[in-house]
Order: sequence, then structure tokens, then C-alpha cells
Amino acid sequence: MSKIAVIGAGPAGCSAGYHLAKSGHQVTLIDKESFPREKICGDGVSLQSVQALSTMGIYPQDIKARVSEFTPINGLVLGVSNGNYHMQTTPLEGYCIPRFFFDNLLYERAINAGCIGRTQRIANIDRYHQELYSDFDFIIDARGVYTGEANAIAIRAYWIVKSEDFPEAYLSLAQIYFDRSLGIHGYGWIFPADIKAGLLKLNVGVGIWLNEYQKMNANIIKIFDQFVHRNQQTQELLTKIVSKHKPKAYPLATALKGNRVSYGKVLKIGDAANLTDPLTGEGIANAILSGLHVTQAINMSTRPDQVAENWQHLYETCFEEDIRAALRIKSFRKYSFMNNMLVWLMKRNQRFSEQVTYAIVGSVPYNEVLPSLKH
Ligand SMILES: Cc1cc2nc3c(=O)[nH]c(=O)nc-3n(C[C@H](O)[C@H](O)[C@H](O)COP(=O)(O)OP(=O)(O)OC[C@H]3O[C@@H](n4cnc5c(N)ncnc54)[C@H](O)[C@@H]3O)c2cc1C
Repeated sequence: MSKIAVIGAGPAGCSAGYHLAKSGHQVTLIDKESFPREKICGDGVSLQSVQALSTMGIYPQDIKARVSEFTPINGLVLGVSNGNYHMQTTPLEGYCIPRFFFDNLLYERAINAGCIGRTQRIANIDRYHQELYSDFDFIIDARGVYTGEANAIAIRAYWIVKSEDFPEAYLSLAQIYFDRSLGIHGYGWIFPADIKAGLLKLNVGVGIWLNEYQKMNANIIKIFDQFVHRNQQTQELLTKIVSKHKPKAYPLATALKGNRVSYGKVLKIGDAANLTDPLTGEGIANAILSGLHVTQAINMSTRPDQVAENWQHLYETCFEEDIRAALRIKSFRKYSFMNNMLVWLMKRNQRFSEQVTYAIVGSVPYNEVLPSLKH
């Protein structure tokens, strides 16, 4: 069995820590922060993430029993600000769970599986880092976007409103709106994050791809403000806010074609390996799954020098096809009128509406979306 350092205890690091410890390795799980800690996110736990969580033995009943703030999500409203919008239910429940609680659930799971937790900032992983290189057989880099290649930026705020002031039918729906002010691929969201004592906590945010952001003449806070004042749903909510937290921004590392995820004894996973979905900015599912697959790469190798190549191979077979299909769809969406057209088509074609929604929540692969138009 090997001695392994997992650096970063977000969803990717906790998943790797959990699976490695369960398969008998000696794992030190290192994070610069002590848990529970905040992570800026839309807090959307998609169907694919729910499925990925089951590999760590975390099921919906554990969320319901052990997480203090969450909302079940069973449908998606997809629309264009102040224009067309469409609602589609999903067959299974996803969740919105503030990351303060979600990540702590995963961290506890990894520690209970046998990981040794340590609070330490590791700025550089290179062969001159004597402790890492001499003490550990493998180093898993799960430090998130700052060690990946940031290519998008997102910002989110928590708004508290009275639940009676929010449409009841939308209490278990994720709302996503395209808006010209966010570029062709950017979008804004309204996710219900928790309901308690008559108060509803909403996660409201926007995400933009950096190549489009650089052409905008405004910073991300101003763009967020523009969106909430332009979009009818957020505009109405603005008049009902009981309290709100300041919006906070954070970069994203969305997926790239032909990415290299290992070098020497360092294996990159999660956002450090640019595994966030390039269409939706959803990264939790692939973060958790990459923790599982990197464990398989280590366990399936008969010699230590095979591990890096095996991880690269598993990364390509498990993730690349979906990444390529998502990037093809992204490059096809060249003009903002196509977002309107997408919603228009969803309203008219039930099969297409289901396939787009299920692809967004991660329960069907992207390469099944376009063929569904033929039905
Ligand atoms: C605003 C926003 C909204 C988003 N919304 C969603 C969403 O709704 N659903 C979704 O699925 N995804 C969403 N994402 C993407 C998602 O947050 C990431 O894909 C996911 O967190 C990646 O997990 P990770 O474990 O790879 O990295 P992280 O969650 O970033 O974890 C990295 C860990 O490494 C630690 N660390 C960093 N540097 C060091 C260091 N030098 N030394 C030691 N430790 C270190 C950090 O403290 C952290 O705990 C969003 C992202 C943003 C920015």
C-alpha cells in the first residue's frame, strides 16, 4: 500500500481521500483551511453529482439527516431574460446545498474513512518540495481552480426573502437565464438554497467565460448588478429582500481538450485538472468522479511508474468524450439569438426539452442532445 498526500479537501480531494483510504492506502488530506469552510459556488448539486456522491456512500437520506441547509431540486427553468422561458421537471431529485455544509459532509466522510487531516498551505508542488517528494509515493493535486487553467469567472450572492413572497411552484426549481449582458455563453441563476422559519435563502449569481468577459467594459460586480436589474425575476426579488450578503466572485477552470493531468508522481484531479463542465460551469460531479478514477489508476497499476500514464488514460476514457461533445455544442452556439432558439425548440419538442434538461443536470451525455431533435 502507498503513502499518498492529497492536497486540497474540496469535493475532488475528499473523494480521492475517501476511496484511497478505503482501499487501504495511508492518506494525508491537506487543506489550507480548517473545516467547515466556505467555497463560493452556485451550490447546485446536480443529478450527476448525486450519483457521484453514492460512490462515497452518501445518499439522499444522508443529506436529509446530516446537512443543516439544503433544498431538493426537481426541475429546471431555462429562459432568456425577459423573454422566452421553459420549465422541465427531472425524474430524480438534485439539491442546492450551501458549500459550507456540503463540503463538510464530504470532509467528514474522508476523515471517517481513515484519512489523516492536516491544515497547511502548499503553495508549490515541485520536485524541490522535499517533504512531499520524500515522504509520499504519490501527490494528488486537488487544490482547485488556482492550479488549473482559469477560463471563466462567476459571482454569487445570498439573498434572504420571505418564502411567502416567492412563487411556491418555484421553490424546488433551479432557474437559469441567458442574458445579452453576460455574453453568448454566460448565464445568471436563481437557486433556492434553504427554507427555514418562513425565510427562503436564495443563491443568485452569474457566470461568464473569460474570452467574452474581456470584451465587456465592466467588472464582474457591475455585470452582476446589470443582470439583476435587467432580469424580471431578480428585479421583482430585489424589492422583497429581507437581508443579503455581499456578492463574491471566484474563477472557474472549465474543461479543455487534450488536457495533461499527470506529471511524475503528481496526479491532478477536479478543478486542478480543468474538469468543470464547459457549458454549465458545473464542477462538483467531475471533481468527485475524478477522485474515484484516480484511485482506480493507482490501484490498477502494477508498478509505481505506470500510475501517471494510467491516470492520463483513465481521464481520457472517462471524461474526454463528454468534454469534446460539450465543446462542440459550445462552438455551435455562435450568436445570442441561438439561446432564444434553444428555449423556443424546447417549448415545442418535448423529447428535446427533456434531453437538454437532463444533459444540463448531467443525467444524459451531451452527444445525445442533438440527435433528439430528429424525434
Ligand atoms: C460562483 C461559482 C458557482 C459555481 N456553481 C457551481 C454549481 O452550482 N454546481 C457545481 O457543480 N459546480 C459549481 N461551480 C464549480 C465548482 O465550485 C467547482 O468545480 C468545484 O468546487 C471543484 O472542486 P475541487 O475539489 O476540484 O476544488 P475546490 O472545491 O476549489 O477545492 C479546492 C480545495 O483546495 C484547497 N486549497 C487551495 N489551494 C491550496 C493550497 N495552496 N494548499 C492547500 N490547500 C489548498 C482549498 O481550500 C479547497 O478546499 C461553481 C464555481 C463558481 C466559482
